[in-house]
Amino acid sequence: MNPFAYQRATAPDAAIHAVTAPGAKFLGGGTNLIDLMKDEVEHPSLLIDITHLDLAQVAATPTGGLLIGALVRNSDLANHELVKTNYPLLSEALLSGASPQLRNMATTGGNLLQRTRCYYFTDVAFPACNKRKPGSGCAAINGFNRIHAILGQSDHGATSPETCIATNPSDMNVAMAALGATVHVQGPKGKRSIPFADFHRLPGNTPQLDTNLKPDELILSVELPPAKFAKNSHYLKARDRNSYAFALVSVAAGLEMNGSTIKSAGLALGGVAHKPWRSIEAEKSLTGATPGPEAFKKVADIALTGAKGYEHNAFKVELAKQSIIRALTVAAQGVQA
Ligand SMILES: Cc1cc2nc3c(=O)[nH]c(=O)nc-3n(C[C@H](O)[C@H](O)[C@H](O)COP(=O)(O)OP(=O)(O)OC[C@H]3O[C@@H](n4cnc5c(N)ncnc54)[C@H](O)[C@@H]3O)c2cc1C
Ligand code: SF4
Repeated sequence: MNPFAYQRATAPDAAIHAVTAPGAKFLGGGTNLIDLMKDEVEHPSLLIDITHLDLAQVAATPTGGLLIGALVRNSDLANHELVKTNYPLLSEALLSGASPQLRNMATTGGNLLQRTRCYYFTDVAFPACNKRKPGSGCAAINGFNRIHAILGQSDHGATSPETCIATNPSDMNVAMAALGATVHVQGPKGKRSIPFADFHRLPGNTPQLDTNLKPDELILSVELPPAKFAKNSHYLKARDRNSYAFALVSVAAGLEMNGSTIKSAGLALGGVAHKPWRSIEAEKSLTGATPGPEAFKKVADIALTGAKGYEHNAFKVELAKQSIIRALTVAAQGVQA
């Protein structure tokens, strides 16, 4: 590991001021950043420990939603009474991630920004990785690409400086996308709010950028709108092992029912794209539909429109479709008390 300085921040303004130093980074739970430092992928010159900032509350908003502080630990969030009651989809997604020890350390802000698990990104022995070293090419495109993207990827060939087929690995992010969250941040010029759909990026021609957060901005909180899917939701995670494994494909599905028809829906996929993949067209196609195999198969086909697999991950297209059908079927049956 390279040498680095350490500083503890006690107020957001001071943390933001400190992070303007070249090479400075915020430290949340450290479960992703420290690993990447040990692997020589990240080389911060200064770590600004933000865990003592007053950002660890979960509170109902005046409009009936929920405000989640950036430092709320994943386990506390998953087990919070308001989350379990009103947003069981988020609780289920969080509890499907990592291990109890990791969830006890991982923060909401850090989870939003965790980096891809692409093996060629995390192993510096591979010289070609546009995300780690812009312009170097992409080792995954002709390599072992079992865990990689099938939607929204930038694919111009292995040697192109614009190619990246990495996926976002977070379970929490998929639920937050389906729930229509907003991320509140603060930088040197003040505060702003970023709709969840605009927070993470597709690789486009700048695969090194994962999100639209600026390097000197601090995540303060995530806001969820009033709950619509409390009674009918499900997070489905398809993975190689039943614990301690990232999703090959995951689905966050929420249904707002009006009698026996669907009033509105939230649907997002994980493990398939550079960002949590929310399909507004698929959600719209559920409005007014009667839950059942016919409507759910149609939605699955719409959500996977344009999907393209590679040598080792073409199976994800059908897996994602079947996972959508299954997640919606379970959601329609209702959340068990
Ligand atoms: C073995 C293992 C298995 C795992 N399995 C899963 C899994 O199945 N599903 C899953 O979703 N995750 C999984 N994870 C990932 C884990 O959830 C993340 O490492 C964790 O959520 C990151 O949170 P953190 O607070 O530790 O982030 P940190 O490591 O502290 O930070 C991550 C990044 O966020 C930045 N940052 C942190 N907080 C802020 C803030 N408030 N504002 C601005 N920037 C900030 C940091 O500078 C850093 O760049 C696994 C991790 C490990 C090690
Ligand atoms: S998929 Fe993206 S992260 Fe993985 S090697 Fe290619 S450029 Fe790097």
